[in-house]
Parts: sequence; C-alpha cells; structure tokens
Amino acid sequence: MSLQSIIDLESRFGAKNYAPLPVVLATGQGAYLYDTEGKRYIDMMSAYSAASFGHLHPRLVAAMKRQLDRLDLVSRAYHSDNLGAFCQDLAKLAGLDACLPMNTGAEAVETAIKAARRYGYDVLTIPEDKAEIIVAAGNFHGRTTSIIGFSTDPACRRGFGPFAPGFVTAPYGDAAALEALIGPCTAAVLVEPIQGEAGVIVPPEGYLASLRRICDRHGVLLIFDEVQSGLGRTGRNFCFEHENARPDGLIVGKALGGGLMPVSAFVARRGLMDVFDPGSHGSTFGGNPIAAAVGREAIRVLGEENLSRRSAVLGKVLLEALRAVDHPGIVEIRGKGLWVGVELDPAHVNAKDVCLSMARRGVLTKETHATVIRFAPPLVIEEADLLQAVDLFHDALVEVHSAAAVSCAEQI
Ligand SMILES: *Cc1c(COP(=O)(O)O)cnc(C)c1O
Repeated sequence: MSLQSIIDLESRFGAKNYAPLPVVLATGQGAYLYDTEGKRYIDMMSAYSAASFGHLHPRLVAAMKRQLDRLDLVSRAYHSDNLGAFCQDLAKLAGLDACLPMNTGAEAVETAIKAARRYGYDVLTIPEDKAEIIVAAGNFHGRTTSIIGFSTDPACRRGFGPFAPGFVTAPYGDAAALEALIGPCTAAVLVEPIQGEAGVIVPPEGYLASLRRICDRHGVLLIFDEVQSGLGRTGRNFCFEHENARPDGLIVGKALGGGLMPVSAFVARRGLMDVFDPGSHGSTFGGNPIAAAVGREAIRVLGEENLSRRSAVLGKVLLEALRAVDHPGIVEIRGKGLWVGVELDPAHVNAKDVCLSMARRGVLTKETHATVIRFAPPLVIEEADLLQAVDLFHDALVEVHSAAAVSCAEQI
C-alpha cells in the first residue's frame, strides 16, 4: 500500500478529530520511530509523554509479556495478585497513601473531581450540590463533557454544551488571584503544575508552594494534574517536587502505561481516598493485572534508570542548545526538564510548516496552539540525538522563513 493510500483509508473510514502530519509510522525503538519506507525519525513528541520511557522499552515489553503468560483481565469483582503492590509503589513514589487506578488521563481527572466533591460534602460540610472546584484558564485535563466544560479553549467546547456547573476559573500562575476566588463552597483547587497543551506554560517560581499554603489556610484540597508532567518529564519524579508542594490528590497517566497501554490513577491522602465506598466509583479495565504489571515496571524503570535525573541534565542541554539558535522567528523558549516549548512569531514563521519541514528532515514533533513547537523526547534519548534535533529545527526555521519571504515578495 502506498503512503497516500494508507492516509486516504484513515481519512475515509476514520473521524477527522486530528490533523496528523503526513507521516505513516510502522516501527519504533527507544527515541526513534520509522515510517513504512524505513526512514528514521527522532521522536521529539513521545506521544504527549505517554512514551516517556522510549518506544518498546525492553524491560516494559518483558514485564507485559510475563503477565500475558500468567493472567489477563479478571475485573475488580475479585482481588488480583499484583494490584496491591502496584498501588503501594505508586503511592510511595508520590509520597501519598492510596491509589485508585483508571485507564485514561481523563478518567483519572473525573475520579479526582468526584473525590473532591464528595470530600466537600462529607468533610468540609458544603451544602448539597454547591461544591466548587477552582481551575485555571488555559487548562487541559482531557476530553470528557464535564472536563471540557471548564476548558477555556473554544475549539474544545464548541457545540458540546450544556456543561456541568461547579467550576470557577482563575488566571494561571497568579496565586493571589486564585485565593480571592476561594469561597465557602470551594472544595478544591485543580491545576497542572506546568500547562502542557497550553504551550508548555511554566508558572512563576513559588506558584506551586503558594497554592499549597493557600489551600492549607482555607482548608480546601489541592489537586495537581500530572498526567503529562509526571514520571520524570520535568526533571523530578513529579513536578510538584520542585517546590516541595505535595498535593492532597495527584492525577497520573500517560507515561504510567509505559507507552504500551493506557494506565492512569488518582493518588491521594487516605482521608481523601476514603470518600469512595463500594458502588461509588469504578472502571472495568482500571487496575487490571496487565496494567498493574506494566505500571509497576514503569515505576521501577524510572528509578533504576535514573530517568528523572537524566531528564534534568539533558533538559538543561536542550534549553541551552535551543537558546543558542539565533533566528528572528523565535519569540520565547520555556520549559523544565526534557519538556520545552518554543514560541514562534507567526509574522515570521508558521509553526505547522516548521513541523512539516522538521519531519522531512527526520525529526517528529507537533505544534500546539498554532505558534508553539514542543520538544518532549523520550527520557532515554541520547544527547547527540537531542542536539541533532535542535540543529534540524534551526534548518527548518531557515527554510520556512525564506519560503515565507519569497511568497511575501511575490505578493509585492
Ligand atoms: C493528556 C492529558 C490528560 C488526558 O489524558 P487522556 O489519557 O488523553 O485522557 C489530562 N491531563 C493532562 C495534563 C494531559 O496532558
């Protein structure tokens, strides 16, 4: 099958809810992906951090295969022999007490919302159906109807209402403005410690610690969505560790599935987790034996391969290399660990064209919000590949910029 016919088949029988680059991937290994013709790409995307451990990490593949020879799905109607150990390992990693495993990130966010509301009624004595959760402008927490209801991005919301009430929006990165919104019905504050989909927006230093103090002062819950920032992405196991701002509830996903399958979890203090009683919440697939085996091994690999440290060290190399790129199209470079957003000036270069040019040169990434190029490679990437990707990014900027200059001149 030709490249074009594979792409055509997908658009003929699939929904058009994504606009992928015209690259058809067939195999992968570590930080490399290969298309149907065997062309090699450096992965600067890591499937939005789901492939943080690299593609087909041998230890993760082996753990999954071992489990497949033993036991598949049994549902939560029974105990299974590795669920408790998985929950223990994840709770310990987060410095919290208990886990409720789900599958996708959005489901784990929904779990956090349910936990926060019930805690609001049962413990904070908020009047029935009045609980509020404070969220941040520019957030991305997934795609369910209740989650998109508190998104501020029109593209996520248009045509999908009516939306659930009970969410209050604060500006991101401004702890004082958020505190001013806390009222008698506030149950929780829910934010991303770095906003990924918004364009790798890093809040001012001290923001996370301020939120912790504010939530303590008002007796409300602090919940961090670390679906994308967690498990080493920012140079620590969790982003909140940069400011020692341990939340009451933590949402983990993406990389927890080792790039092999969807595994997510809501992790919390015991007093918060215990709002759930039998029948109040669940998931057919959440915490299944295969997910538990993969999730456990992912946590082990994170520690034993020192990937958070690696992300911190290589993240500095990446930032430095990107800051050395001298091009008028670059407006701002921001990030933490192996997670960087480069803001481009649309008057000089079009971010999508830059991504297309990078793909032709063998580097895969994707723009976010039309003007930001993200650099989020697997944490196992070699430094030489990282630097090569930055060089090829520079070449792409030059190509797209001069093409734009030509078409501009043609117009005159
Ligand atoms: C990706 C993401 C989600 C949603 O995860 P899914 O697995 O796509 O449902 C939630 N929160 C954040 C911060 C994310 O980046």
